[in-house]
Amino acid sequence: MNAEIIAIGSELLTPFRQDTNSLFLTERLNELGVEVRFKTVVGDSLKDLAAVAQIAISRSDIVIFMGGLGPTEDDLTREAVAEALGIELRRDPDIVAALYKRFAARRFTMTDNNKRQADVLAGAEVLHNSNGSAPAQWLATRYQDGERLIMLLPGPPHELKPLFDAECLPRLKRAVPREYIAKRQLKVAMIGESALDARIAPIYTKFPEIQTTILAHAGEVQIHLQSRADSQEEAERRVSVLAEKLEEELEASVFASEGETLEQIVGYYLQMRGETLAIAESCTGGLLAQRITSVAGSSRYFLGGAVVYSNQLKTELAGVSPAIIQEHGAVSKAVALALAEGIRVRTNATLGVGVTGIAGPTGGTPEKPVGLVFIALTDGKLPEVLERRFPGDRERIRLWASMQALDMIRRRLI
Ligand code: AMP
Ligand code: MG
Repeated sequence: MNAEIIAIGSELLTPFRQDTNSLFLTERLNELGVEVRFKTVVGDSLKDLAAVAQIAISRSDIVIFMGGLGPTEDDLTREAVAEALGIELRRDPDIVAALYKRFAARRFTMTDNNKRQADVLAGAEVLHNSNGSAPAQWLATRYQDGERLIMLLPGPPHELKPLFDAECLPRLKRAVPREYIAKRQLKVAMIGESALDARIAPIYTKFPEIQTTILAHAGEVQIHLQSRADSQEEAERRVSVLAEKLEEELEASVFASEGETLEQIVGYYLQMRGETLAIAESCTGGLLAQRITSVAGSSRYFLGGAVVYSNQLKTELAGVSPAIIQEHGAVSKAVALALAEGIRVRTNATLGVGVTGIAGPTGGTPEKPVGLVFIALTDGKLPEVLERRFPGDRERIRLWASMQALDMIRRRLI
């Protein structure tokens, strides 16, 4: 089955408020094997809302409306859905009585507009809202070619979430034929999005029943796979077949298949191989150390590092000889190697990493442009150094450089 979510409220179309409820609902629906095919945010306008409702009801099995159930003039969801379905609203005397009680309990007088909250779609079930005055509604109805499940839910997240779990989930479980969703998240390091797609599109397009989504970040491309089936085992089996084919094609470029981060994977290998790491970083300014130490337990393999921005500190903290800096410049293969070896020796680590480059926007020259980064790795016997020209602004160049350094460590250990 497929679902559609409609968030209602003019505030959700401003720069100040976001629709977050739909993320919660999507997670719950996916757990039932229901795919969310459309999401819409619409302001408090009867005309717009009725138009959106009309389209949603015509194309989706499950339509969830949220927001616009309050008592005020701009709460128009009930009217719009009734109009779209061509059915009546009926004022429910029990809800009116409950509203009077709620107000009396707080020693308030109830104004007449509150009674609008008692207007119920003909044939709908009223769902109790324990955290607010506007009740929700559940309507199972026939519409044109098929059955529809329609929910009207309150907008405030602290009302919607408990209400959905208590009232809607049990009803959905009874109404929705059980389907299962299996997901994989392959992560690929240091390949561009288009180059990656050119290699894998011929593979994943042969699996049209598996949803494949490609998301690119600096130095990392994620391949999200999702399959649906009548059992969890079958869904897992289907998604595994494609995941394995993609891993075969991409070989060592794939660093994670369950969504792990590169720093987690690097930490895993360092620990497994009994290695220890120290780093001397210049242009990444501590970003590499930050990423490595973001993993719990990293003290088992990460000894520490130094942020050596000035030439003086490259010498004092990482033992780079002033002559090397003089001869090759601070941004050079020779200095990257000296940083890696210097920090390794000074900390007694088994592996040392050095990073030096030009993050920009200033400081570039024709020979050494912005984006030029040298990354070195050594175990004292086998030093390696990479020269890279990364695209983008300062932040992206630094991110790319940290990715490349982590990937270099990973590739040495696999
Ligand atoms: P309502 O009175 O039902 O229109 O909802 C009003 C309150 O709930 C406002 O504070 C909204 O910003 C919040 N709200 C409504 N819809 C959403 C949504 N989809 N996601 C997050 N907050 C929402
Ligand atoms: Mg509203």
